[in-house]
Amino acid sequence: NMSDGLDKIFFGDIQLNDLMLEDLEELLITSDIGVETSMDLIGRVAKGWEQDRAKIRSLLRTEILALISKQDPQPQPPPDGPRVVMVVGVNGVGKTTTIGKLAAQARANGESTLLAAADTFRAAASEQLTVWAERTGAEIVKHKDGADPAAVAFDAVAAATARGIDTVIVDTAGRLHTKVNLMEELKKIKRSIGKNLPDAPHEILLVLDATTGQNAISQAKLFNEALDITGLVLTKLDGTAKGGIVIAICNDLQIPLQYIGIGEQI
Ligand code: GDP
Ligand code: MG
Repeated sequence: NMSDGLDKIFFGDIQLNDLMLEDLEELLITSDIGVETSMDLIGRVAKGWEQDRAKIRSLLRTEILALISKQDPQPQPPPDGPRVVMVVGVNGVGKTTTIGKLAAQARANGESTLLAAADTFRAAASEQLTVWAERTGAEIVKHKDGADPAAVAFDAVAAATARGIDTVIVDTAGRLHTKVNLMEELKKIKRSIGKNLPDAPHEILLVLDATTGQNAISQAKLFNEALDITGLVLTKLDGTAKGGIVIAICNDLQIPLQYIGIGEQI
């Protein structure tokens, strides 16, 4: 789509003009790159243009790659005891599915893995996680429905420490039974994870649904303020989502994009 659009706007060895830049801006914005990042890219392209008029495509590619690659996550040293990953995000974005995929990856790396069913909002949530535990050969800690999610997370970390588990992945709810603020509840879960394991959680992954477009960015800002997100997961890029959202997220948020989701299976 973007490639065809570029062909229409620019062809031959041409003088750059404002109309072309406006068309380029529209092309970038309709690819879900977002207004701010699109403006940013256009500024860079316009700057690089003087030296090399005909190479709009490679110029744009270079600038986009620069935006994305500066976000590469730094590798962290492995913790003593279990590595705890907390997974957050609004309802339906793909948290539980992502946990299934992460569990499969951890298991494939030979790590013993334990899942914590701290989404106690609905019965189906822990059942869904149980299915993923069975599929991947992970252990699971769950309480009865409506239980305190922070208590589930606490027990999971305690169990993992006692059993010498390598990786704990904590599922959470995207909404709540009570009027308690979701962010307050998530902060409480985070604190309870750290009670017995001072550096935990080692990672807090925010899952975003790519099909929600620019709304994903406002969600990220909100969650990051409350929880200090360490990495992003962008799901449903196999569907109708426009890939430009990846570029917008990398440029807008100083949080590395660590995984993308491309399907409902492992
Ligand atoms: P949660 O509420 O955040 O835990 O979301 P779920 O993991 O339950 O996922 C909600 C729906 O999105 C389910 O039907 C999943 O199968 C689906 N889903 C999750 N990730 C992806 C993905 O990367 N691609 C597609 N097509 N569907 C996904
Ligand atoms: Mg879920």
